[in-house]
Amino acid sequence: MLGISIVTTHGERVTLTDQQLAGLKAAFGDRLVTPGSRGYDEARTIWNGMIHRRPALIARCETAAEVQQAVRVAAASNLLVSIKGGGHNIAGNALCHDGLMIDLSPMKRVVVDAAARTARVQPGVTLAELDAATQAHGLAVPLGINSTTGVAGLTLGGGHGHLSRRHGLTIDNLLSAKLVLADGSQVTTSADEHPDLFWAIRGGGGNFGVATEFTFRAHPLETIVGGPTFWAIEDADELLNAYREWLPSAPRNVTGFFNYHTIPPVAEAFPEELHLRKVCGVVWCIDASDEDAEAAMAPMLSVAEPLIHGVQRMPIAALNGAFDGLYGPGDQWYWRGDFVREIPDEAVVLNREWNERMPGFKAGSHLYPIDGAVQDVGAEDTAWAYRDATWSQVFIGCDPEPAKADAVREWTVGYSEALRPYAAGAGYVNFMMDDEGQGRVKASYGPNYARLTRVKAAYDPDNVFRVNQNILPAA
Ligand SMILES: Cc1cc2nc3c(=O)[nH]c(=O)nc-3n(C[C@H](O)[C@H](O)[C@H](O)COP(=O)(O)OP(=O)(O)OC[C@H]3O[C@@H](n4cnc5c(N)ncnc54)[C@H](O)[C@@H]3O)c2cc1C
Repeated sequence: MLGISIVTTHGERVTLTDQQLAGLKAAFGDRLVTPGSRGYDEARTIWNGMIHRRPALIARCETAAEVQQAVRVAAASNLLVSIKGGGHNIAGNALCHDGLMIDLSPMKRVVVDAAARTARVQPGVTLAELDAATQAHGLAVPLGINSTTGVAGLTLGGGHGHLSRRHGLTIDNLLSAKLVLADGSQVTTSADEHPDLFWAIRGGGGNFGVATEFTFRAHPLETIVGGPTFWAIEDADELLNAYREWLPSAPRNVTGFFNYHTIPPVAEAFPEELHLRKVCGVVWCIDASDEDAEAAMAPMLSVAEPLIHGVQRMPIAALNGAFDGLYGPGDQWYWRGDFVREIPDEAVVLNREWNERMPGFKAGSHLYPIDGAVQDVGAEDTAWAYRDATWSQVFIGCDPEPAKADAVREWTVGYSEALRPYAAGAGYVNFMMDDEGQGRVKASYGPNYARLTRVKAAYDPDNVFRVNQNILPAA
């Protein structure tokens, strides 16, 4: 390596000399990766195949001390920095163009204290890896619905999934975190230590520092009754009408997210006569006896005859990984999200109509329930503000073909904008692309945005951590 040409936060190009890089080189060895060196393309590969950015330098960290070293070098030269946890972010914010990527994906340790029911988790851990560690003790941390997602980004943005109605968001189960701050120092934050920082990281994303460890509360949970029921899309209006009444009145141990999809042409998983048929469905997660689970699902199952009822008792980890085979890395992804309080008749019809013209068999939409225990926490108790919404809706544009990237984006934008008049006025930051603008980021935090800008000014006044859904430091 003979110096590195790299960009600053102001967009200027500077050269980091060998002398400036000496400390990093000594500590990281071949884990300090540049374009052309071995492992570069692997390290910059992320989930969304639509995003192509090439960092000038990648520091593949294995310890918190190495993270501190990388942050100090970045701060000293005002370098553009991105942070990679699981690399699953739909906006592709793990990557920066021509800057320094702090890659935490090698940090994979999970330590479960079964007696205390806690899990200490490093930032390169995926949901599958955390599930495997906790399930070995009959425990579960509330996470998301796709097991390849990174715990770090999911947690910092909020984290909702199959256990949200029962146990709250992932952040509602976060007990403490260790963070490397913009000046390279390390702090532990919890309800008692740096409480303003702890408030901010629970929903405020990667804006405040690099999280090197999370400690979560885990809950006793081994198996659930789960899996999908799919109905013909022609029945969707009747089913969503029933679902919008049924879900909020269901007990907290019962949940199911409503969805629109196309049955994938996968012979091992679906009967051939249903391949490429457009459907609506509910993916259930019920923590109850088989008998009680059947009774809980009965009101929805009586609305129309299902095409597929693939529900069975399974470990929660199996449900979290149930759709991994269908959605792998490298597809073209364009998402939008909106919080939803109620689903009026007009929205019922529009949802069906837009999904009748999905741009490909991997597109669709999900309505994730975020009532129940999520609403036990006040809107201003954490940065995550939309505690009065019933659902978090995601509009999923996805296709394997790069040539269809524009069609995927167009459909997603059109669909989400058609539904926006019926939504709560903002969406989940973890479902947001980069082109939605600062106003949309601000709206996601509602009344909490002003306080977030003050915490940002206290912990990252120069906005070192800006490659994210950015919260601007208060003047
Ligand atoms: C197929 C799929 C399914 C999903 N399902 C769900 C779901 O069920 N529930 C849900 O809530 N979300 C879900 N998401 C959204 C997911 O939460 C976000 O994409 C999240 O950003 C992924 O985190 P990551 O660590 O994998 O991402 P990365 O791309 O590695 O990181 C994303 C951003 O998070 C920040 N970040 C990551 N790690 C750190 C760290 N250690 N310290 C500071 N900042 C950090 C950075 O700003 C980074 O740019 C899903 C996404 C996909 C693609």
